[in-house]
Amino acid sequence: MNNKRYVARSTAIAARVLGDETMIMSATNSTLFTLDEVATVIWESADGATPLEEIVANKICTQYDITPEVALKDAEGRRDFFDILEYARLRTFCIKLKTNGILIRKQEADRIKALGVESVQISIYSHVPEVHDAITKLPGSLKQSIEAIRRLRAHGIHVIMANVLMVQNVHDYAGVRALAAELGAQFIMDPTITPMMDGDRSILNLNVDEAALREVFQNESLVGGNIEEFCAPPLAPGEDDMDQLPCSAGHTACYVSSGNVRRMKFVDIWSDSPQLNEVRSIKLRDMPTCSKCTHGGTCTRCPGLAYLEGNMRGPSYQDCEKSYARTGIPSENLKARKASSQPYHSLRLVQIQGLQPAAHALPSRVTETSVVNA
Ligand code: SF4
Repeated sequence: MNNKRYVARSTAIAARVLGDETMIMSATNSTLFTLDEVATVIWESADGATPLEEIVANKICTQYDITPEVALKDAEGRRDFFDILEYARLRTFCIKLKTNGILIRKQEADRIKALGVESVQISIYSHVPEVHDAITKLPGSLKQSIEAIRRLRAHGIHVIMANVLMVQNVHDYAGVRALAAELGAQFIMDPTITPMMDGDRSILNLNVDEAALREVFQNESLVGGNIEEFCAPPLAPGEDDMDQLPCSAGHTACYVSSGNVRRMKFVDIWSDSPQLNEVRSIKLRDMPTCSKCTHGGTCTRCPGLAYLEGNMRGPSYQDCEKSYARTGIPSENLKARKASSQPYHSLRLVQIQGLQPAAHALPSRVTETSVVNA
């Protein structure tokens, strides 16, 4: 039996190398991470065919003064992960983990529980092992993720099973939802894949088609309410709607690349970052197109996606599509794009850059995408 472990870069992750580091962003929920120099080497070598042990021996131990045993332990997961978690909790951060869970064993579950982690989100693409494992490119990963969920639930930890809808798993959300119920986990679904930070849209091919999207929005068990109400043509935004905030980025969640905690205190970044302050200042009334759109008060517009299209205060085509799938009413932006000789898929998108050490780099931002909760 082959006991070697294989690691592969997920197709649902966008990456960009900046110097020795790599910025990676989950295309499914736009969470942004920075990989340090060593993690970057592992990331670049994770082809799904080279065993982790071989990557560590050939790429890490030859470049760094470290033994294979120690390096392998680091490669499996940050050894200081729980120290960071403990430090953050001591400073009263609310911690929500996003992971595939495959390294969570009893000991880790004990510590997660003891540290009062708010929730652990685990991506489950399908209840069918072949489908899930083909997406993660890790054979046996569904089984391991389910084991982690069981372990966490046995500790009474709030587990969220996140199901990202793609062409490969379009028929499986009911199965994942049933699995979540069986395991006592919350089920959430995200029906869209977003472009990569460098503006590459090839990953959008994984998005489900309009009919499938419409089906999701018309599924009462998914939207958790009255379909007629949920899909009803919205009223144009009123005066109260004009003060609505576009998303939680910069308010209750960071989600915006706005400073480096290795160089500055988080509290100073949070309070003084020009990027965060700019994001915080945006209200619906500041958006020339969306404030006049009939969907303005109900749309899940993502400022990060709008930024990719050139204007953080502008509409986001993918959100226009979602509003259309929900209500059957096309926004002006959607109509204009559909009529345009330059279709959306041929537009050049802004390349989101990570913050450079120099102070006045262009703001870069990513935000959470909308999620259908059930
Ligand atoms: S549907 Fe499009 S134009 Fe209308 S509010 Fe949403 S993003 Fe803006």
